[in-house]
Amino acid sequence: MDFSLTPEEEAFKKEVNDWLDENMKYLPDWYVRNDGSGPEPESDEYNQFNQEWHKKLYKAGFVGIAWPKEYGGRGATLMEQVIFNEEMAKRRAPSGAGGLGVGWAGPTIIAAGTEWQKKRFLPKILSGEEIWCQAFSEPEAGSDLKNLQTKAVEDGDDYIINGQKVWTTQGARADWAILLARTDFNPDIPKHRGISYFLLDMHAPGVTIRPLREMTGEALFGETFLDDVRINKRLMVGEKNRGWYISMGTLEFERSNSSSAIGQLSTITELIKLAQEMKRNGEPLSRDPIVRQKLAQFYIAANVCKYIGLRALTRQLRGLTPGPESSVGSLLSMELGQWLQDFAMYLQGPYNQLMRGSKNAVKNGSWQRSFLSSRGNTIMTGTSEIKRNIIAERTLGLPRWV
Ligand SMILES: Cc1cc2nc3c(=O)[nH]c(=O)nc-3n(C[C@H](O)[C@H](O)[C@H](O)COP(=O)(O)OP(=O)(O)OC[C@H]3O[C@@H](n4cnc5c(N)ncnc54)[C@H](O)[C@@H]3O)c2cc1C
Repeated sequence: MDFSLTPEEEAFKKEVNDWLDENMKYLPDWYVRNDGSGPEPESDEYNQFNQEWHKKLYKAGFVGIAWPKEYGGRGATLMEQVIFNEEMAKRRAPSGAGGLGVGWAGPTIIAAGTEWQKKRFLPKILSGEEIWCQAFSEPEAGSDLKNLQTKAVEDGDDYIINGQKVWTTQGARADWAILLARTDFNPDIPKHRGISYFLLDMHAPGVTIRPLREMTGEALFGETFLDDVRINKRLMVGEKNRGWYISMGTLEFERSNSSSAIGQLSTITELIKLAQEMKRNGEPLSRDPIVRQKLAQFYIAANVCKYIGLRALTRQLRGLTPGPESSVGSLLSMELGQWLQDFAMYLQGPYNQLMRGSKNAVKNGSWQRSFLSSRGNTIMTGTSEIKRNIIAERTLGLPRWV
């Protein structure tokens, strides 16, 4: 891969930074201070803040940078999208509200959707008018997703959906979901062959969301119950019974993210500050040789993540999907995210017991929240064990485990 930028890419990078210089001036004080004094990350207030930021990005043409112009995107290159992601992460700019729609649902519709689906859904994903969630996992189908039991039965122009989904992130806020359901019930075919991919209106009659509260105290997830929900046939993505293959593409988009390494690097910068502030026997921890070694190792691992991300990007620039190698980057990045949070607890010593609201909590307990939420890193987008299986089988060519 050629790491130097073309003159056009340099000009785009400058445009992004000029825009950020101008617009980051108006971010609220609590965001700039980054001291944990702002609203809870999953609160309505934080969500509102993210939506407003998303609108600004959209108006400036920075949402869907690599999406085709005809569907409201900027029509720029994937490289420009990556430059944008990296500059945003380096400057610690807010992420905006369109995450799942812009990151996964939209690219899946672009790759496999009908013309009607593209025209109907893509502009509203970009503008942030419609928020998306993912309804794949079920109580008995997480890692073994092909075991999913939600049924879609044909009835005239519709499918009637019955079943239960779980761990639906942002389900309660979402307008639409990408949904997998079984459309072939023949027990003799391989399970993955009978699955179809749908776009589900989360406000349709028969859709009920029950919040699930996680250990951070927030209810980011929901259980989604589907009782006789009607989905028109034009909301099926790709061919009937071919949904498994489309979902594999969605999961690859989910697992490939070259800018996550930049996020890790900025967490390492925060850890260095923490090591300078926290003292043991009157000395800052940044003088402790073991602490210094650890920080250096994290820095190396974050850079390894960055280059693996760039490798997946090279595949995409050649018109290929990110590929099973994206599981290597995703695995390392998710595990590194946990190591960094564990280390923040180590650096705080006994202060690590103090949560948000406690008088002497470091950074108002925001490390404690990110430590707890990082537990999910090695579960979401496939557990570490599943990613290791994928790497073993598809990248190293080892025999299937079962
Ligand atoms: C933060 C977060 C956000 C999420 N958001 C969404 C979402 O928006 N939409 C959605 O559909 N889902 C979502 N999920 C669900 C996620 O995809 C599943 O939790 C994940 O696939 C694991 O499934 P499971 O929880 O059923 O665990 P299980 O599959 O039951 O696994 C339990 C344990 O067994 C291990 N295991 C299972 N099979 C194997 C195997 N073959 N080899 C080795 N070990 C194995 C696993 O690694 C794990 O340790 C989210 C999860 C988290 C944590």
